[in-house]
Amino acid sequence: MIRKAYPSRIAISEMPLSFAKPEVRLLATWGNESFIAGMLDTIYGNKQPELADPQKTKKRLEKFLADGHHSVMEFMGAQWLLTGSRALSHELVRHRVASYWQESQRYVDYAKHQITYVVPPHLRAALSPWLEEEAARYIDLRAENTAENSRYVLSNAFQTKILVQMNAREFFLNFLPLRAGTGAFHEIRVVAWLMYDSVHEKFPITAEWVGKHLTQLHPDFCREVKPGENCLKKSIEEAFSEWELEVPRSVRDLMTQYLRTQA
Ligand SMILES: Cc1cc2nc3c(=O)[nH]c(=O)nc-3n(C[C@H](O)[C@H](O)[C@H](O)COP(=O)(O)OP(=O)(O)OC[C@H]3O[C@@H](n4cnc5c(N)ncnc54)[C@H](O)[C@@H]3O)c2cc1C
Repeated sequence: MIRKAYPSRIAISEMPLSFAKPEVRLLATWGNESFIAGMLDTIYGNKQPELADPQKTKKRLEKFLADGHHSVMEFMGAQWLLTGSRALSHELVRHRVASYWQESQRYVDYAKHQITYVVPPHLRAALSPWLEEEAARYIDLRAENTAENSRYVLSNAFQTKILVQMNAREFFLNFLPLRAGTGAFHEIRVVAWLMYDSVHEKFPITAEWVGKHLTQLHPDFCREVKPGENCLKKSIEEAFSEWELEVPRSVRDLMTQYLRTQA
């Protein structure tokens, strides 16, 4: 690969670059499983709304999920603040049922802030010369241009922060089966699993049921999986090892359980 020399006003080696890994921060959730289960008695039994007991909640939630009565899942959901690359956020915003609020490259002046890139650790050394040059070009451009025009040189690797809101139907039954699948980009896959872990405690029955059925929830989940290879294991291990991130407990437990049922 040939790297062209670029006469920057500041030495490229002095570029204050930093690298980050994808991050998922759960900010809020709404609704809960016992409320949805309890509403069944109001809708079909003319009773006052009440939370259902744990046994009824499990039985009813699992039946809604198995029978495909998925619209009830829209009464609960979550908000996350995600950190990742622009490559990640571009894929994320294709999910039209979610809501977004993304860091503005028109208004944030990166000439005054730390410039951060999100690339897998094993690619950092190889990509650094290009990213340093990109950052130097941006700072040069900023001297005579607005931030909105200078941003044209920024790459897919540039870090972004994005607030995302999804209801549980969109997250568990559409986003996760598509983006945890083995054909999905490793960065969105790792983020999908971190989002799963973050809401596991709040929506445990849904999370467990979806985890157990995940490989059947989208026909393309096991893309490019060799015979005898386990696609749930591949999805998780490949994505977390690419980013050198630890597999969170609920995801590890799901993988163990799934492997046990397959044995
Ligand atoms: C492995 C993988 C590879 C991909 N590769 C590419 C690619 O190369 N190029 C590319 O452009 N995209 C690609 N995509 C993106 C993909 O085509 C979808 O745009 C993305 O996954 C969002 O899916 P969705 O429309 O189901 O989600 P959402 O927009 O969140 O929609 C959720 C569900 O709501 C319903 N819905 C939403 N909007 C409508 C509507 N207008 N009319 C009717 N029903 C609606 C549908 O049932 C839909 O499944 C890829 C995705 C994956 C997972």
